[in-house]
Amino acid sequence: MLAHAHRNLIIFPLVFQNMADDKATLENLKQLVAKFNTERKWEIYHQPKELAIAIAVESAELLDIFKWQHGQAVTAKVENYRKIKEEMADILILLLSLANTLNIDLSDALVSKIEKNAMKYPGGVDYSRIWNQEKNKNTPL
Ligand SMILES: [Mg+2]
Repeated sequence: MLAHAHRNLIIFPLVFQNMADDKATLENLKQLVAKFNTERKWEIYHQPKELAIAIAVESAELLDIFKWQHGQAVTAKVENYRKIKEEMADILILLLSLANTLNIDLSDALVSKIEKNAMKYPGGVDYSRIWNQEKNKNTPL
């Protein structure tokens, strides 16, 4: 525990320590990722296409954890849970890097997309019933 805290002190300034979802903002996280990338001069590799590919690759790594596994047992295993957390972080780091590269405000993008989804799928509807009816229509006799 002490070693972990000491490592954080060396790598990250105070503003980035003890971050949690209920405290960090997306802007904090974008700055953290930008700082990490800048210190390694990685911006030259962060062209939009390269980042989009990397997001797909990391998403495949997340899928790989579930490959040939069944049910909730996958996430119940401590090792799988750790791997899922790491791959989700990889995806988020790359997504934040892409947002930095393209100067995209992710909060605005998310709210706009949720609004669009709400228009397409109004609330108060049991979509599982509709989709099951659609699926049964397409089932061969
Ligand atoms: Mg990974």
